[in-house]
Amino acid sequence: MSFGAREALLKALETGPLKVVVNIETKIYPSEELTLIAEIPGQKAAEERFVFSAHVQEPGANDNASGVGTLAEMARVAIQLHQKKQINPQRTMTFLWGDEIRSTRRYIQQDSNRAKGIKWGVSLDMVGEDTEKTGGTFLIEKMPDPSAIWTRGDDKHSEWGATKVGKEDLNPHYFNDFIEYVCRTHAKQYPWTVNTNPFEGGSDHQPFLNAEIPGLLFWHFTDVFYHTDADRIDKVSPQTLFNVGTSALASALVLSEGGEAIALEVNSILKTASIKRLKGEIQLSLDAVKSGESVAEQQDILATWKQWYTESIPTLSDILLEAPTAAFLKQSKATTNKVSKITKSGMTALKSSAKKN
Ligand SMILES: [Zn+2]
Repeated sequence: MSFGAREALLKALETGPLKVVVNIETKIYPSEELTLIAEIPGQKAAEERFVFSAHVQEPGANDNASGVGTLAEMARVAIQLHQKKQINPQRTMTFLWGDEIRSTRRYIQQDSNRAKGIKWGVSLDMVGEDTEKTGGTFLIEKMPDPSAIWTRGDDKHSEWGATKVGKEDLNPHYFNDFIEYVCRTHAKQYPWTVNTNPFEGGSDHQPFLNAEIPGLLFWHFTDVFYHTDADRIDKVSPQTLFNVGTSALASALVLSEGGEAIALEVNSILKTASIKRLKGEIQLSLDAVKSGESVAEQQDILATWKQWYTESIPTLSDILLEAPTAAFLKQSKATTNKVSKITKSGMTALKSSAKKN
């Protein structure tokens, strides 16, 4: 129903009960479902992949011509850079357009060998919003992390709503923090509001996660014109398309190039993010205990975050192209030590604040 029709109905309802007669003309016909895949093969580890997915079946400008168009432009830019030898992808970059969830799921399921090499997946869904008109900001929907179990502090769900997530759904990885870092770095130079939301599901990142592949969603929510016939080109911002496309492609270029220097850089991104997260969670837990919440629950939250980070750190080795060097192992150990140290101080503070109460 269009926005105008909705308003007219609401207005008519003011005068009392209302009956509506709707005539619908529709056509049902057999059609073929197609998936389009473009790839830039990696030079060294072609069987390893960064996969982007944009679904084609939604008819709106933002949902999802914006995702389809942004991905087309990303592929065009990437191949141009590749031809000019300005990029150096050691792993394959895959660009996939198809039916929502179904195409991506099939891509993962139809070849188990290929699936083993998929290291990262990103879904582009509603990525062009002119947020002055549409409402909700740009969001990175994170893969399930402890913020999806305990959503508090600055973390908040979109209007889409939470999905039940338990500890057994967590597959710790650096991907959340790396992607957030890339987007926030871009946002320092260009007008862009970047937010994240805990995992909710419902788009092309889901099949990756179901296959235990790190998968994220780039999107906006809510958009007041979402799934109405007012989701038109005038609601799309070229600046937003540029912001999302540039950050998405930059992330893939970095990880598909890989190697030790990049792994060390991502280690330091992860270290900074883990310190910030743990300090924030400790403060939230201290406040919770002060207001009467159980200490055991707060200890559980901190322990889960600690585990998230200590188990994310070893996944950094999937950026490497060779066996880990002593230098790499030393740096990642330093991050692990830092995570343990901060958590320990938090646990001690929790215990003593519990005694005071
Ligand atoms: Zn969509």
